[in-house]
Amino acid sequence: MDLSREYFVTHLECGLTGVPYEAGVVHGLSEAGRPLLVRYDLPALRDAVSRETFAARPASLWKWRELLPLADFSNRLELGEEATPILPLARTAARLGARALLVKDEGRLPTGSFKARGLVMALSMAKELGIAKIAMPTNGNAGAAAAAYAAAAGIEAVIFAPEETPEINIREIAAYGARVYRVNGQIDDCGKLVAAGKETQGWFDLSTLKEPYRIEGKKTMGLELVEQLGWRVPDVIFYPTGGGTGLIGMWKAFAELEAIGLIGPERPRMVAVQAEGCAPMVRAFENGERHAVRWDDPATIASGIRVPQAVGDFLILDAVRESGGFAIAVSDDAIAEAVTAVARDDGTLLCPEGGATLAAYEKALRTGLVGPDEEALLFNCATGLKYPLEDQSRRLDRHQPIDWSSL
Ligand SMILES: *Cc1c(COP(=O)(O)O)cnc(C)c1O
Repeated sequence: MDLSREYFVTHLECGLTGVPYEAGVVHGLSEAGRPLLVRYDLPALRDAVSRETFAARPASLWKWRELLPLADFSNRLELGEEATPILPLARTAARLGARALLVKDEGRLPTGSFKARGLVMALSMAKELGIAKIAMPTNGNAGAAAAAYAAAAGIEAVIFAPEETPEINIREIAAYGARVYRVNGQIDDCGKLVAAGKETQGWFDLSTLKEPYRIEGKKTMGLELVEQLGWRVPDVIFYPTGGGTGLIGMWKAFAELEAIGLIGPERPRMVAVQAEGCAPMVRAFENGERHAVRWDDPATIASGIRVPQAVGDFLILDAVRESGGFAIAVSDDAIAEAVTAVARDDGTLLCPEGGATLAAYEKALRTGLVGPDEEALLFNCATGLKYPLEDQSRRLDRHQPIDWSSL
């Protein structure tokens, strides 16, 4: 593989105010307290890369390296960030009377979730910038991905998780050598601990969108899906939205792809999917607001989207509105039913957050928010194997006579 590359980052800028910041130095939030976005020399990129440039490379996240923030590509961490498949949910589509229903199955990434995309970039940049210790709050998957890439980078990691975080996530984080604490609170309470300990502990705050590079990693979902669909976008994307990194990242990806001439002005409608027990973006969308009020007492089985408040709220809501999309909430019962149905019908085990996108799609079809002729792409963000599954086993005593007709 040809690893020669040019570095196209020009600067960073505040996502709210547009104030520029220097690249190549450690940054957290902007002075306005909002996420920083990485900016590239897009005219130069337009001359330097083509569809063929990317098509000729192995199907990995790192194929997009000219559109990624590493100054020295040898600082990249690699645990096998393969492109994830887009699978047709043929029987589910037929059951719902839809023309085309697709799912991008992100559960195949390292640590079993798409948090790997964001955290491989954040930790690779942390390594490049000489950061020795990180801390972050997590509902489970982000902490696991951070811990794995921190281990790969030789960076110390301290992780804070709400008490109710699934056991498997806590154990996985510890297995990678990170120190993990269960905290009697929600993810934003954990985030406050990370901020509060910064001075005495000297760690870097790797919270969602509080450092600039997770968006760049998550952006590769947008780049990848466009290439996989033959350099076009689907009609509508259903994204399970917590902190919104992926939705914001994909929206940025489409803009960059257009600016460098790889797609036209067409965009998918972006749908932010949340759970009825934690739907701050849906409430803000419906109230016509650009910033979302914290959701009190959040509760849902879809832990990845149990995020009561997001620092990038306006970036999520702007993208949803600009795209002509919408925000929609679904019940935990509908989520569980969707997971069960698609596993049986199409052989794909969604995580609850992925199930939420299917439940939202069904609801949107029923209420006419999407049409049966629209091509919809759902996101399954983690492997269903990381979540508790219902015990549906039966017992068989091999020492007793077996009534074969009853099996
Ligand atoms: C983190 C997470 C989400 C939410 O992703 P954001 O980009 O932070 O909104 C959805 N599903 C799963 C499984 C997650 O781990």
